[in-house]
Amino acid sequence: MLKKGEGIWEKILLKIEERLGKGSFELWFKPLKLIDLKEDSIILEVPNRFFKEWIEENYLNYLTEAFSEIAGFTGQFKLRIAEKDKELKKEVMQLENRTKKLASKGIFLNPRYTFENFVVGPSNQFAHAAARTVSEQPGSVYSPLFIYGGVGLGKTHLINAIGNYIVDNISGLSVLYVPIEQFTNEVIAAIRHQKMAELKEKYRNVDVLLVDDIQFISGKAAVQEELFHTFNSLYDKQKQIVMASDRPPKEIQDIPDRLKTRFGMGLIADIQPPEYETKIAILNKKAEKEKIKLPEEVCHWLAKKIKSNIRELEGCLIKLAAHSSLTGSPITMDMAKSVLKDVISDEDRPVTPELIQKTVAESFGLKIQDLKLKRRTKEVAIPRQVGMYIARELTELSLSDIGKHFGGKDHSTVIYACKQVEEKMSKDERFKNLVKSIIDRIKS
Ligand code: ADP
Ligand code: MG
Repeated sequence: MLKKGEGIWEKILLKIEERLGKGSFELWFKPLKLIDLKEDSIILEVPNRFFKEWIEENYLNYLTEAFSEIAGFTGQFKLRIAEKDKELKKEVMQLENRTKKLASKGIFLNPRYTFENFVVGPSNQFAHAAARTVSEQPGSVYSPLFIYGGVGLGKTHLINAIGNYIVDNISGLSVLYVPIEQFTNEVIAAIRHQKMAELKEKYRNVDVLLVDDIQFISGKAAVQEELFHTFNSLYDKQKQIVMASDRPPKEIQDIPDRLKTRFGMGLIADIQPPEYETKIAILNKKAEKEKIKLPEEVCHWLAKKIKSNIRELEGCLIKLAAHSSLTGSPITMDMAKSVLKDVISDEDRPVTPELIQKTVAESFGLKIQDLKLKRRTKEVAIPRQVGMYIARELTELSLSDIGKHFGGKDHSTVIYACKQVEEKMSKDERFKNLVKSIIDRIKS
């Protein structure tokens, strides 16, 4: 039984602080207030919308877990804004109402992901143009549309924008947005409860089907089968299908060729990492919309430091805004450096071959000497190739210099090594993550 005032909230805060560390805890959880505690819902008050958005996107699972562990609570969280800014508060309410209204019709779109909020630059121009065309003439031009690109580059934003546009501008069309994990869960549940007919009915009768993160369909035969037939059914009726993925169709592992072919049957559009100017434009647009006073100097610094991930770029801006609104002090260069010190390191520490060797050796449980010496054993072959690959990615060293550092190889061996690593990364998700994590450690 839940009761306010029995120190539950304090216990929960302690638990969260343990997990999160002091810095983030003080910034994001200290300012929260427990307003109401019921069997099935909890209302928390947050200082402003930055908090609401940030906590909902990043820390909701911390709250859920701590509440369920300490109070056995499994209900819903509502974050209420204490903000005095009436206009912003009103806008948030409007967005929430729209979301609720759509959700009651089974449409789950993020209302903030619209074309108006999407900054177009050379890196995403093509995908954006394709998405716009599809929104204006669903089903008749490019179907399916397959959008792919790296993490945090705007794929989910774009396919939601298609949905939002159609819902708002073309009446009478049914729209369905579904992340593939959810589709997977629905297929599994339908099989278990013998409800396949309902599932087919739901997915094969829409006008616009938006499927997110389709790469996660790898290796799931039953889901692939169902998607294949859904696809055919919609395709035959000239309905609009849009898919988002972190890689192109031919690089999605463990799916039958007939699906790969289907995915690529319409238009394939990629999104590249944003250029410096696009990053600046995104920051300024977001700052303007959220009424954040972002000095030009800080804006340029962020755009320079955050290499590609737009989610990270926005995250930094929101963190600065939250900090500024809490302390009542404006965003400055010094403040930014101190608030973001965990995210952005200030000096560009040069990446040396020694640093790469050390990190690679540690990650594979080897000694540095193993990578440097000429010896040819199987255990060191792959780590050494990884080392050469990372050296080529992160340093300005020539290929033959890289070879010298890794067992005295010549430049063609380095080229071969890099090819091998790239190929293995494209086929083996775990290997790819391993290499990425080594690169991250070297950079940080
Ligand atoms: P992905 O699905 O590719 O991982 P998201 O669509 O979730 O990336 O984008 C991450 C964040 O960056 C979102 O908050 C999104 O609104 C923002 N974003 C991405 N691209 C743009 C853009 N071109 N203009 C404005 N915001 C963008
Ligand atoms: Mg996404």
